[in-house]
Amino acid sequence: MKSAASDHDELNLLLSDILSRASVTPDDKGCQQAFESYLTSTGFEFISIDRGETKNLFCCKQGKGPGPFLLFAGHTDVVPPGEGWNTDPFTPTLRDNRLIARGTQDMKTSDVCFAFAAKQFIRDYPGFNGSIGMLLTSDEEGDGKDGTVYAIEELKKKNIFPDFCIVGEPTCTKNLGDTIKNGRRGSLNCKVTIHGEQGHVAYTPKLENPVHLAGKLINGLTQIKWDNGFDGFPPTSFQISNIHAGTGAVNVIPGTCELKFNFRYSPALTNEEIEKKVEELISGLGQQTDVSWTRSAFPFKTKGNKLATALSSAIEEVTGMQPQLSTSGGTSDARFISRWCPEVLEFGPVNNLIHKANESIPVKDISTLAGIYYQTLVNIFIGR
Ligand SMILES: [Zn+2]
Repeated sequence: MKSAASDHDELNLLLSDILSRASVTPDDKGCQQAFESYLTSTGFEFISIDRGETKNLFCCKQGKGPGPFLLFAGHTDVVPPGEGWNTDPFTPTLRDNRLIARGTQDMKTSDVCFAFAAKQFIRDYPGFNGSIGMLLTSDEEGDGKDGTVYAIEELKKKNIFPDFCIVGEPTCTKNLGDTIKNGRRGSLNCKVTIHGEQGHVAYTPKLENPVHLAGKLINGLTQIKWDNGFDGFPPTSFQISNIHAGTGAVNVIPGTCELKFNFRYSPALTNEEIEKKVEELISGLGQQTDVSWTRSAFPFKTKGNKLATALSSAIEEVTGMQPQLSTSGGTSDARFISRWCPEVLEFGPVNNLIHKANESIPVKDISTLAGIYYQTLVNIFIGR
């Protein structure tokens, strides 16, 4: 056994290396190569699944038996630093017991902690029954089409199907260990253009003013109670995000009015049900309209509770906290993975500084997160 101090150094060294790489989407800047170098001595095998400018790396270590396959999914890309940093965003800096750098929360620390935990676990339990994998992409913060979605299709062709997946997105709200995400709401966008006839305000138009019709539509849509929430999901939310009409002149009836709105919905509803209801209201306006939908994410809730039990227990064993299961927040790659792997959970650092200037993480959370991932592997493969 190596001493605790040198284990610590190994973890911090890898984290420092990964954070120093300015891997703004989709440029991986050698992060995945660094993970490959780190894991290769432990007997991991690697499959590169690059497409276009996006790098995807699948790493897998087969244990001694045909036991379960646990996969960690993460991204090595980060959003651009933007303005307002007090330190260089790609020079990891220690200040006030925090490590500051772009990607500390979202989500390079998780990637590194999982790789470190996996390596330690394999060293401690070389005869474990099952397989441990990592799937890394450099296109999570971008449009994602060449990232996890594509990699999964390629892995399916090789007959690779994980039983459990931990997505290392930052899920905690106040303290590391307070929140696991076990599902996400769906996201559905609609754009409606209502057509009328442009004309002088002093003369009665042949067609109804499209802004007045938009008012009727908004009134109708805001009256609908879509659902009461479902199985841990909050009620479906409807929000108008944009309205555009008018020439700028006060004496011109606009020729068109364009509305954009979004639904965040639970698995209680399907996108088809929402779309049908909305389109009924629109056709009730009785005037020409153009309607288009963008289905940006389907809702999911993870099945089974083996992973949830193993991860929750690990969190409790390491931090003393009992995590809550939550389906709140935006979307992540878990929505794609849930169609490939039955039990998918997201767990990672506190997310209060993601995408912001001076993104940072408490130094103590680094080894704690590695400890939680390590204990989860123990709980899944060795039992408690
Ligand atoms: Zn992320």
